[in-house]
Amino acid sequence: MSFLYRSTRNANETATASEAILKGLAENGGLFVPDEIPALDVSFEELAEMDYKGVAYEVMSRMLTDFTEEELKACIDGAYDSKFDTDLIAPVKYHHGAYILELFHGKTIAFKDMALSILPYLLTTAAKKNNIDKEIVILTATSGDTGKAALAGFADVPGTRIAVFYPKNGVSPIQEKQMVTEKGANTFVAGITGNFDDAQTGVKKMFSDKKLAAYLDEKGFQFSSANSINIGRLVPQMVYYVYAYTRLVKAGTIAAGDMINVVVPTGNFGNILAAYYASLMGLPVRKFICASNDNKVLFDFFTTGKYDRNRDFILTSSPSMDILISSNLERLIYRVAGNDADKNNELMKNLAEKGEYEITEEMKENLYQFYGNYATQDEVADVIKTVYGEDGYVLDTHTAVAVSVFDKYKKETADDTPTIIASTASPYKFTRSVVTAIDPELAGKGDFELVDELENISQVKVPNAVNEIRTAPVVHDTVCDKEEMEAVVKKFLGI
Ligand SMILES: *Cc1c(COP(=O)(O)O)cnc(C)c1O
Repeated sequence: MSFLYRSTRNANETATASEAILKGLAENGGLFVPDEIPALDVSFEELAEMDYKGVAYEVMSRMLTDFTEEELKACIDGAYDSKFDTDLIAPVKYHHGAYILELFHGKTIAFKDMALSILPYLLTTAAKKNNIDKEIVILTATSGDTGKAALAGFADVPGTRIAVFYPKNGVSPIQEKQMVTEKGANTFVAGITGNFDDAQTGVKKMFSDKKLAAYLDEKGFQFSSANSINIGRLVPQMVYYVYAYTRLVKAGTIAAGDMINVVVPTGNFGNILAAYYASLMGLPVRKFICASNDNKVLFDFFTTGKYDRNRDFILTSSPSMDILISSNLERLIYRVAGNDADKNNELMKNLAEKGEYEITEEMKENLYQFYGNYATQDEVADVIKTVYGEDGYVLDTHTAVAVSVFDKYKKETADDTPTIIASTASPYKFTRSVVTAIDPELAGKGDFELVDELENISQVKVPNAVNEIRTAPVVHDTVCDKEEMEAVVKKFLGI
């Protein structure tokens, strides 16, 4: 059964799955959404017997209908292999009364690897299917984790180049070192003097610039996006919710068909939207618990129905969630507006012009499965220490936001539905915040000394991703203004 993807801003703009992956973004800033989400017609018991790749094929083949079985299986095999440090790919562990879904066992130790290790395969397959003879240029804005995961995924992939922009003062030292030491010959990295939203706005602007697209075309290039707005990121992220659920079925913790809740530490709203899409496919989810840090735009939105980005941008200990414009929320807005592009357009126009919009009561009612809350930096530090005290398990700062919000939700509602918490990064990526939360006396140590301290504290071996950057030379040292982004991309491409 095949269906098309359609722009959230223009009902007449459609694309096949492979075209949507190639384009990344629809015209005028619209996002591609599936016309339908087919039911997952395989039983949870059957899925429980499959490994990660097997589940990935079942879920992704329902969504990417113009990929052949052979093509999709080749993409999955290439992605979920020994790049991950465990055969389970995404292990589920029980701590603090919840099932922690560890999504950080890939090459760059953040959950972005789950999708970005397969995106290059999906994209190059899509290019072949659509007879694209241009070199594909991936443009990416990152709040810290997407950047390195995309660089690692696309490094030296023939027919592609990749340019990454990150907020110069808005990422952790380990995150920055990971990016600026990237060796791939087709890669480019620049820090911008601004925040993540500036980087994301600059990238979106280049995407929607028709003149620039024509110029690139003439020179043999074509832009595409590795950001979480690309359905080539969203669809692979649906997989691990189904996978985690079926691991609980397999372990006998829940029965097939039982309801679960999911808690997701949220920034751009991609990860939690993937959980929602998985539920539309048939995953029994009662509540989607959206956890924010001090940049609590989404908490305010879910409590009031008003989205308002007019506020100070706060740099926190969970930098990958320091975002005021959660791009993927548009897909949910479009859906609760009854798949109405005109209505969505109006709201997004308000967002662009006034920095805010308000949904109707009826739309708000359609959001009844979503619950929002947030955790302050002090609460994050507290919960890291508490959970460590319980059984020695060390949370990263982003996962800690989720765990803190999980505690608040339970206190408010007394809901005891089995809960999966998405753990989005290894604590080794945010060593300073994590170690000083557990032992403030260690604050005077250097970043890599803290890495060794964390090994002692957690009894978890230092991941390769961290060891390999200890002494790696800086390859990328460009810093630019947001106005200069287009110029530096052209220079990188030599045009
Ligand atoms: C990107 C990221 C998030 C936020 O995910 P979204 O899909 O943007 O909501 C949370 N935690 C970590 C560690 C991340 O890298």
